[in-house]
Amino acid sequence: MSDVNDVVDCLVIGAGGAGYPGAIFLAKAGWRVVMIDPFGNLGGNCLAEGCVPSKAVREAANVRMLAMRQDFFGLRGVTPEVDWQQILAHKDRVQHTRYAQHTDETALPNLTMLKGEAELLDESTAALHLADGSTSTCRFRHLLLATGSRPVRLPIPGAEWAITSHDLFRMGANLPKPEVLAIIGGGYIGVETASMLQALGTRCTILEHGPRVLSGFDDELADMLQTRLAQRVQIETSAQVMEISRPAATGVRVHYRKNGEDAWLDADAVLMATGRAPVLPRGFACLGIELVRGAVPVDETLRTSHPRVWAPGDVNGRSMLFHSAVRQSQVAAHNMLAGGQVVDRMNFSSVPMTVFTDPELAHVGLTAAQAIAQFGEAAVAVTRYDYAHDSRAQIYGLTDGFIKLVFDRRTRRLLGCQIAGMDAAQLIAVPAMAIEAGLDASVLANTAFPHPMLSEGLCRAARQFLA
Ligand code: ADP
Repeated sequence: MSDVNDVVDCLVIGAGGAGYPGAIFLAKAGWRVVMIDPFGNLGGNCLAEGCVPSKAVREAANVRMLAMRQDFFGLRGVTPEVDWQQILAHKDRVQHTRYAQHTDETALPNLTMLKGEAELLDESTAALHLADGSTSTCRFRHLLLATGSRPVRLPIPGAEWAITSHDLFRMGANLPKPEVLAIIGGGYIGVETASMLQALGTRCTILEHGPRVLSGFDDELADMLQTRLAQRVQIETSAQVMEISRPAATGVRVHYRKNGEDAWLDADAVLMATGRAPVLPRGFACLGIELVRGAVPVDETLRTSHPRVWAPGDVNGRSMLFHSAVRQSQVAAHNMLAGGQVVDRMNFSSVPMTVFTDPELAHVGLTAAQAIAQFGEAAVAVTRYDYAHDSRAQIYGLTDGFIKLVFDRRTRRLLGCQIAGMDAAQLIAVPAMAIEAGLDASVLANTAFPHPMLSEGLCRAARQFLA
């Protein structure tokens, strides 16, 4: 590519969930947009090695778990054997399909999609180091900084022996399925991986530093998951990992301390699932933006302290989730197009969180404890629907689960929702919308949700509040 000498309206660095929705919106609005990403296509880490491929593998685990319970439904037959290579091939096919669709989406007259890496030279210029080895210069009026995040590794001896979720799920990944896996970290990536790989026959141990998995989650959700997962996976809480070593040519040994005692765990592989940290482009310092705990601070308009720089998505560290990044990207682009006037704001409190374990978890907004701390006990009402009463859950024999709704008695609005059990990640969209729109509880209570489906539980929990 020749130098982009004339000034583009917007340079978008990173084509993940935080980059491409805004880029496409601005290009369709007539702006000249250049977007650059080392993957050379849309989707960022989510599609390359995160949400999409991991859920493709997880679905294989779900199918197998269901098959193992087939006699419950009156079916007989053999339990499916695990063919790891074919499961990975299924995952790759899903990734290929989505990449092909995304290629079509970027074919817009005002949008130039480049494969490579951007380096900032000054607050209006970037060097674009392209995958073909060439470098161009790009001058820009606005910058959409959407460089995302990467997994962090604990600074311990032998950390380089650990794999990350990216190594497991990236396209073309060919790691053999571990028979014994040590997982450092009981956050959502740790518990999701343990849950799916155990269902595919791997013996998993989670080593979690805190007193329980999923720190920061609603206590009841986290406790339920821990109790249920502990039936399939060994969970060592209050375990501090000290070192990873490789005593033989294959396999790893993890040294950890628990209750003041040393302990060792031998495994085929060790997964580092200790969180993600923002990624910044080279030359970031020239923007003069001060970082807060390694992230780029933004307000609800997604603007940084630099008036021409917006930073949606993982890079700002506020909610590192693909669907949140997509909405943030739109907010940033709307405000950018409006010349910096505030025409749109991000509502972080309506972003749902999902955990794709068995059982599945999802939550949005405030927990009961958070709502009471914020508004006082008298202002908060909590209602609950138990899966034991639900037709669909009974049909599936998965009656261990619940929906909790947290309401504001004064406004009759939903403040939060926590769901544990079957379909939680699907169900959470409705409460998220109720929070985003500030719906009166009567809307949830009076809408006829389909029977016999779990969404009825949302209605019934809302009716309890109005009763
Ligand atoms: P988000 O959900 O916030 O979009 P992702 O991590 O999914 O986060 O996507 C960020 C994308 O940005 C990734 O594809 C990453 O490779 C890309 N990226 C990171 N640094 C640069 C850079 N300097 N130049 C171009 N792309 C970058």
